[in-house]
Amino acid sequence: MDIKIDTHVHTIASGHAYSVLSDYVRTAVEKGIEMFALTDHGPVMPGGPHLYHLANQIAIPRVMDGVEILRGAEANIIDYDGEIDIPNYILKRLDIVLASLHPPCLESGSIDENTAAITNAIKSGKIDIIGHPGNPAFEIDIYKVARCAKEYNVALEINSGSFRGSRITSWDNCVNIARACKEVGTFVTTGSDSHVHCYLGEFGKIYKIFDEVDFPRELVITESKDKLKEFLSKRR
Ligand SMILES: [Zn+2]
Ligand SMILES: [Zn+2]
Repeated sequence: MDIKIDTHVHTIASGHAYSVLSDYVRTAVEKGIEMFALTDHGPVMPGGPHLYHLANQIAIPRVMDGVEILRGAEANIIDYDGEIDIPNYILKRLDIVLASLHPPCLESGSIDENTAAITNAIKSGKIDIIGHPGNPAFEIDIYKVARCAKEYNVALEINSGSFRGSRITSWDNCVNIARACKEVGTFVTTGSDSHVHCYLGEFGKIYKIFDEVDFPRELVITESKDKLKEFLSKRR
């Protein structure tokens, strides 16, 4: 499998990432990445961007040096009711919205509480993808999340950044998520969660997970631009 779309990328606007848009565009050209999504954090993340930063992505060309750019965000789930930190009037301006659990923005609760935080975010209709659901800091009922995502046509992310940084023990969880998505028929996306441009589109570990569970290609919506665009157009 050779995936050319990365739906999870951070710039310096996130406050704890170290590259800018032009770094990612240059790297995409070098690596043959066809499309990536800018998904800087929502404002509750310490050092995160102002909402205007997220909203003003309309200033970014749709295509730079032949690389398609999606205007997006990684919203923070801020309570167990699944509330996120980006208001609807901003979400409406974005092409793609991830929502994720992050320790600085919500304390990990019980499995039931963490699962509710994610399933309630899915049910809200505001978000397209759950970012790094394999985070071991937030134990969840994986099958409950996979079934809910399937029902509400939300994708779960297989996140290759998890194996580099703060979620390095995510492997088993990510394999189990892929297995659950295969069984339930839930869509997945591939995200590098790059905080530095050199990791853009680095999906080697994700391919290993797909191989390990013999994951069906038809559920990988980042397999082609058309497939991702169709998914997003049905949701947005
Ligand atoms: Zn995240
Ligand atoms: Zn991220």
